[in-house]
Amino acid sequence: MRLPHITQPEELEVALVGVPFDGGTTYRPGPRFGPRHVRVQSAIIRPWNPVLHVNPFAKQRVADFGDLSVNPLSLEDTFQRIEQGIAPLLRADVRCVCVGGDHSISLPILRAVAKKHGPVSLIQFDAHNDLWDEYFGSKYSHGTPFRRAFEEGLLLDGGVLQVGLRGQVYSEEDFDFARAHKVKMVTAEEFHKKGLPAVTRYLRTFRRRPVYVTLDIDCVDPAFAPGTGTPQVGGFTSFQILELIRVLRGLHIIGCDLVEVSPPYDTGEITSLLAANLLFELLCIL
Ligand code: MN
Ligand code: MN
Repeated sequence: MRLPHITQPEELEVALVGVPFDGGTTYRPGPRFGPRHVRVQSAIIRPWNPVLHVNPFAKQRVADFGDLSVNPLSLEDTFQRIEQGIAPLLRADVRCVCVGGDHSISLPILRAVAKKHGPVSLIQFDAHNDLWDEYFGSKYSHGTPFRRAFEEGLLLDGGVLQVGLRGQVYSEEDFDFARAHKVKMVTAEEFHKKGLPAVTRYLRTFRRRPVYVTLDIDCVDPAFAPGTGTPQVGGFTSFQILELIRVLRGLHIIGCDLVEVSPPYDTGEITSLLAANLLFELLCIL
């Protein structure tokens, strides 16, 4: 976004933070290259949003904080590095917009966020609920972050909204954990039938509370975002996800991330380009 590269938290109000880690992927890898490609495609982003009537760069001090240093061979070590990497930003009241990386990175981010804000509400755009218990005996992957976040007390029961769920799961019991924690779910089918009101009807309960937003690019249909690790057909169009972000305006968003952009599977960089635009929209509602 043609932003300056600034690493002093006290200079900033909003920091774009790259997290080039994909050690939590279970199928197609590649999101470690996400930050790099999204940065390149963001060169075409202009500052004025004529729909929301806002210039996010005039409203607040925004900069590219650069990429966090991760350990490609260790999930646990990487989680520590992520938590420690954004802690100074949060201490300085900087809101972090993290760019992944696979979805496992949201867990250490939420750990840091909850240390500052306590348990938070979460709005998750995703084809998958990422609430599975484990994969191949491992508790940490891009399919488990929000299960762990609930278990660690980082998320509010009844404070989680998932939008865009679709595709096959292993069984109906895959939704038991979500139901036990009163997760609100808007499936892609429901959204395609009812449109934005399927989502906006829930937003009132999120007002005036700290909300964290996480956007897995696979919420978008692979026709619009092919560059991702676990694609699911039947998702949002580019325009629908733009609108879905815009309706969040007015919420007290304390941070967000955009994950699962996998450039090796992209076509003509359209997924990275979409991601750059979605980041711009997220900046506009912060
Ligand atoms: Mn997903
Ligand atoms: Mn996900």
